Amino acid sequence: DVLAELAINGGHPVRGERAWPSWPEIDDKTDAKLLQALHSRRWAISWPGDGTKSNERQFAEQFAAYCDRPFCIPVDHGSSALVVALQGLGIGPGDEVIVPVLTWVASASAVLRVGALPILADVDPRTGCLSPAAVVDALSPRTRAIIAVHLGSTIAELDKLMHIADAAGLHLIEDCAQAHGARWGGRAVGSWGVVGAFSFQHGKVLAAGEGGAVVTGEESLYLTMQQLRADSRAYLGGAAVPGEMELVELGETMGVNYSMSELHAAVLLDQLSRLDAQHERRERFAQELEEGLSALGGFAPVPLPEAAERRSIYEYGIRFEPGTFGVAPVERIAAAVGAELRRRVYPPDVPLNRSVLFRPGTTRRYSTTWTSVDERRSIGRDYPNAESFRETTLLLHHAALLGDSADVRDILDALDKVRAQAAKIPIG
Ligand SMILES: *Cc1c(COP(=O)(O)O)cnc(C)c1O
Repeated sequence: DVLAELAINGGHPVRGERAWPSWPEIDDKTDAKLLQALHSRRWAISWPGDGTKSNERQFAEQFAAYCDRPFCIPVDHGSSALVVALQGLGIGPGDEVIVPVLTWVASASAVLRVGALPILADVDPRTGCLSPAAVVDALSPRTRAIIAVHLGSTIAELDKLMHIADAAGLHLIEDCAQAHGARWGGRAVGSWGVVGAFSFQHGKVLAAGEGGAVVTGEESLYLTMQQLRADSRAYLGGAAVPGEMELVELGETMGVNYSMSELHAAVLLDQLSRLDAQHERRERFAQELEEGLSALGGFAPVPLPEAAERRSIYEYGIRFEPGTFGVAPVERIAAAVGAELRRRVYPPDVPLNRSVLFRPGTTRRYSTTWTSVDERRSIGRDYPNAESFRETTLLLHHAALLGDSADVRDILDALDKVRAQAAKIPIG
């Protein structure tokens, strides 16, 4: 009967015609902010202003405060934020940086872009975040930094990673592209490492289409990173003078142009004002979902470390016991659940050692950094924890938790239905 049959096999989906919440959330206030920036005819920070503070500087101040840091530099992409952070710390050729094998490729490609070598390390099999023990194993005399990624909806083991970094004299960089507003030990994530790097790409919880930022507590690093993103120029403080450039040609550190446009900063000012209310809404429905998951049995959310105070839900991870869906691989399980929900459900990214997105040998730019020895050391290994985490985790984009309790019910019903008919999930 068509009602009971799996949607992926032509049956009736659990989800009715009702639309899922759209993302990003915008209204008249967003329109007003963007139009104001448009009509001001100041679209870039590298252009004389009218004496008022640019959107970019306003956003930098607000986002620094949001992250419990004195300094923030907006940039054009989250990837650029990581490059600016690494370069700002003086990391370059001959250096190694430890990166989790389970992350978006930018965490590792940023290291290559500054001429250093990304050394992949396995993750905690419960959270998918960088494993402190694997970091210790990956240390070498050339290691200069660790990039910790707060993945999905959880937080990396900051205490242990900070301890390792301190003991070995390394920089800890927090890649917070998936964790805006998450809190740990009384402070925002991004404020624990020497630099926190963020992305404002469309899908992230704070979005401008494209964009990024670094935050730091160190003033000299702030000045260096400013120059790295604005062709060696920096703000030197003081009020904006009408008709004059605010950026000063400093030239202490040669940079390129990674600047954020005024139009993007206008959108971010609007979006930042909504973020905490969105966090609360997602948390409320996540808790409803978690009650339902424990009632279903066999499912659990990705856990948070004990010191975590608030999570930021970017991709909500649902863990299941191996074998829950028979022999179906995670891609097929995700497709079956997604068909019931009429929205994308997906496994975590393929670990970088197997990812087609991480193939440094395909471009001449990295040929001097990336040798066959490195290839074996980073790519030619197995990362069993990353594999087991991926094989038993289903992800939902955070917008799925911005709606209402009926959405939560649908998610639970879809899991229940697909599990009951796991033998019918088409494989191959
Ligand atoms: C999205 C993301 C990035 C890159 O950000 P872009 O703005 O797309 O360049 C880096 N690291 C992680 C963990 C991400 O999720």
